[in-house]
Amino acid sequence: MAPVTVKDVTKKYGALPVIHGVGIDIADGEFVVLVGPSGCGKSTLLRMIAGLETISGGTVAIGGRVVNDVLPKGRDIAMVFQNYALYPHKTVADNMGFPLKLKGAPKSEIETKVRRAAEILDLGKLLDRYPKQLSGGQRQRVAMGRAIVRDPQVFLFDEPLSNLDAKLRVTMRVEIKELHQRLKTTTIYVTHDQIEAMTMADKIVVMREGRVEQIGAPLDLYDRPANVFVAGFIGSPS
Ligand code: ADP
Ligand code: MG
Repeated sequence: MAPVTVKDVTKKYGALPVIHGVGIDIADGEFVVLVGPSGCGKSTLLRMIAGLETISGGTVAIGGRVVNDVLPKGRDIAMVFQNYALYPHKTVADNMGFPLKLKGAPKSEIETKVRRAAEILDLGKLLDRYPKQLSGGQRQRVAMGRAIVRDPQVFLFDEPLSNLDAKLRVTMRVEIKELHQRLKTTTIYVTHDQIEAMTMADKIVVMREGRVEQIGAPLDLYDRPANVFVAGFIGSPS
């Protein structure tokens, strides 16, 4: 079980506050989208959940355990970034297996997990290729494969599709949702794209200038926006 609980979390860069007391309850297996304009603090919040950024105040708990002082590798999470840097001189299989190799997993275990992830992501025929021999969508799938092989309790995505063209973005949205339906891993997905949020989320968290404006199911936000900002951002006419 891996619910994620963010409680009264603040972040300051030096003296500059950028997150002002954010609270979010994410249930085990839920797909939550953090959405808001560029600069509102989505990545900062996600990086604090990942342990890549210190927390100035409040707590982050994963699976019921407060992790403020736990290093990223102790958090049982996997993160997919927008600039999914693959190792150019490693094959697809070696790129996907690398996190396990780092952990010192035996070769047979790495092979089994890479094969399973490749099957889920339809990369089975591409395992011996190198990144430059792949399309943008295939590369993105390899980056997701690298997250899946670790079998984490939580997936964190930070604008994973923003470097892809419009058509591919739609395809990948569907693939990420199918992946979630199959694995049921708790997922926190950051985007500035309202359509991505509306089509992918079980629950949307609308952020603005380091604060949460509203949390709700997509249709709730659409039908009953808490304020003009949410209405404008989600695209409801009210
Ligand atoms: P988003 O992901 O929503 O675009 P960010 O979390 O990247 O927003 O940034 C939130 C705010 O924090 C912005 O004002 C940004 O300029 C600031 N910020 C982000 N990272 C740093 C940093 N390392 N040092 C100082 N300010 C930062
Ligand atoms: Mg960001």
